[in-house]
Amino acid sequence: MSVYLLPLQICDSIEKLMNRFWWSSGGERQNGIHWLSWSRLSIPKKCGGMGFKKIHEFNIALLAKQDAKLGGNPSYIWRSILAGQHVLKSGVARTIGDGVGSKIWGWPWLADPVDSNLHTACIEELKDATVSGLLDADDSQLVFTAWERLWKLPVPPKVRNLLWRCARNILPVRVALQSKRVWIGGGCPLCSHMEETAAHLFCECEVARHLWGEGDVLHGRALSEFMDTIISSPTADRAMLMAAIFWVLWSTRNEWKVQRLIENWKAVYCVSNASLISPMPTAWTCPTPGVLKCNIDATIFDNDAGYGAVVCDYLGLFVVAKCDQLGFVRDPLLAESLAIKEALTWIKDIGHHNIILESDCLNFCLSFNSRSIDFSYIGSIVKQCHSIARNIGNVSVRHVQRSANHVAHVLARATGSLCVWGSWDSFPPDCIASLLSF
Ligand SMILES: [Zn+2]
Repeated sequence: MSVYLLPLQICDSIEKLMNRFWWSSGGERQNGIHWLSWSRLSIPKKCGGMGFKKIHEFNIALLAKQDAKLGGNPSYIWRSILAGQHVLKSGVARTIGDGVGSKIWGWPWLADPVDSNLHTACIEELKDATVSGLLDADDSQLVFTAWERLWKLPVPPKVRNLLWRCARNILPVRVALQSKRVWIGGGCPLCSHMEETAAHLFCECEVARHLWGEGDVLHGRALSEFMDTIISSPTADRAMLMAAIFWVLWSTRNEWKVQRLIENWKAVYCVSNASLISPMPTAWTCPTPGVLKCNIDATIFDNDAGYGAVVCDYLGLFVVAKCDQLGFVRDPLLAESLAIKEALTWIKDIGHHNIILESDCLNFCLSFNSRSIDFSYIGSIVKQCHSIARNIGNVSVRHVQRSANHVAHVLARATGSLCVWGSWDSFPPDCIASLLSF
């Protein structure tokens, strides 16, 4: 690379490979979401990028360095380097960056060797307008400026990386994932009542506010503005506290093993149902005599979604089952919630009482069992489920692992592969008959 000029296409391919590796964290399945392009990652760290090298520019720089070393030796290498110089000269371009120092009018914007100017009449008021006025004002770079201080914070590199992603607004919280067409249902995993944005998770969530010890953390500011103020303050104490709080919340949110910790938190602050903090069953268990158990699951197919509901008695014997389509639903939490609402309506219609509903959808179960009002898009369905459950009488909702919900899962899957829609009494449908006693 320090001797030969790499073709631009190869430089581009190398950058794409490196970008893919960076966003997939080096895993075997290199298909992570690319939150920023390589050119944005190549911005210096002090300006909000990661300071990675642009391969072509790096290649040219190395060639120029060789140029200085080799002096006037007229070898093949020398000629190769001279070619590099020519490319450098002809390919020189201006980096726009935030666009503050680049004027819109009167600059040679076109890569045309004869006439590189745009011939459009200039409006007098816009004569001195800069490119920054054309850029998206949402870019957090324009709000957050304390990059150098951020990278010097005395915290582990992974924590600095988390802060960088927050300030660049590229943290994979649910709302950001949805903007990338990745549908993970539900709101905030810590309180399950709001949309999960970075600002909510780190500052507005009730769990975050308890860690901060304040009722209002942001005081009307955007998260990047709030971070900028704290990191720019003269001492690093508050910035380190912020880093610690952010890291604890992010780790907790990502760590499935501490889901119990969150449930215990909910048990203290907002949840009354004791079943949520008891150990979660891994295999299907019989209900007590006089109580029926209904297992429900939903499945999403390419163009449709379906659900299955299977009711068994205290001996584990089959009672009734139903499965049907849910229409075009892409969001797993929405599908699970609609499935439970459909199942409750069905149970009410056939006149069963004293029933335990089991689902492997944790977010629905938490929302159903919480005393707080759910303001998320699932809230209105949960409210309808409460209303139907009151009409049925003595309904409880429990979260179980997928292994304990297997029969309902198989029935839900069958709605996609076969025309198996309907309800069954006394004898189960063939697709689940071998899994049940009847
Ligand atoms: Zn929350």
